[in-house]
Amino acid sequence: MNYKEIIEDIHKTVKSGENDGALASYIPELANVDVNKLGIHISTVEGFGFGTGDHLEKFSIQSIVKVLSLSLAFKIVGEDIWKRLDVEPSGTAFNSLSQLELDNGIPRNPFVNAGALVICDILISNLSNPKEEFLRFCQNIANNQELKYSDKITTSEKSVGYRNIALCNFIKSYGNILNDTDIVLDFYFTICSLEMSCQELSRIFLFLADNNFKGADGSQILTLSEAKRINAVMLTCGFYDESGEFAYRVGLPGKSGVGGGIIAIHPGKYCIAVWSPRLNYKGNSYRGMKFLEKFTTKTESSIF
Ligand code: GLU
Repeated sequence: MNYKEIIEDIHKTVKSGENDGALASYIPELANVDVNKLGIHISTVEGFGFGTGDHLEKFSIQSIVKVLSLSLAFKIVGEDIWKRLDVEPSGTAFNSLSQLELDNGIPRNPFVNAGALVICDILISNLSNPKEEFLRFCQNIANNQELKYSDKITTSEKSVGYRNIALCNFIKSYGNILNDTDIVLDFYFTICSLEMSCQELSRIFLFLADNNFKGADGSQILTLSEAKRINAVMLTCGFYDESGEFAYRVGLPGKSGVGGGIIAIHPGKYCIAVWSPRLNYKGNSYRGMKFLEKFTTKTESSIF
């Protein structure tokens, strides 16, 4: 498969096409990003890698980190994790409160903010230095000590984090947040501030595509069965209330973030990362969705 030629070709088409949508300006620092950025990078299980455009530039991965926090929590707690949250698509926005009341404080899935906050709570209960240990977990998978949180983004999001503060307190009122809400929120905002380039993203998430993947310390990150489950949750819940649309148009498990990044996994084949900061009204990268739809069509490589 000539991924290079196909990616270059689609990059040209998407770059010269529409750039609809808006920046995630509810986080002030994210409103300063150049809307014309467009990066793509693919990493295959055979060791091939190719990127183009702004693929080496770091950006705020935001909710894409929720795949990593879920992976670590699932590794530590196992199936018992599902006593605290569910694996059902929410059909509501990423920061919605409404479902929590109907479901007695049990978030619909780990990728909406409510579920990610519960995952943060679980990690805090299980790690002695949550921020450091989580970062080391990511650095080990990526084999990259350069991965860092951004204090600037954390502070910016904290300054306006009313909705997440409300969510965390609301879940705590049902007894499903065990730690101090300030600690949980601080951890949540911090991990969302992690910065990576498309190249780094496509490499780190290869552990969900490649059953023989090993971290820098030589250990396997997840078993095949655990990876299957994470991919399944990505396919059904990775794009908030647009998860059906992404599965329909792209046909791969994936996860988006309000920084404009999207990762998509083809188990057994590759991980591809796209970054374009303008988001559609559901909070997913406008050009990123377009790019990936064209990519799986041209390469005939969706999982279906
Ligand atoms: N930190 C963001 C928030 O909580 C993450 C949302 C996202 O990337 O979808 O609003």
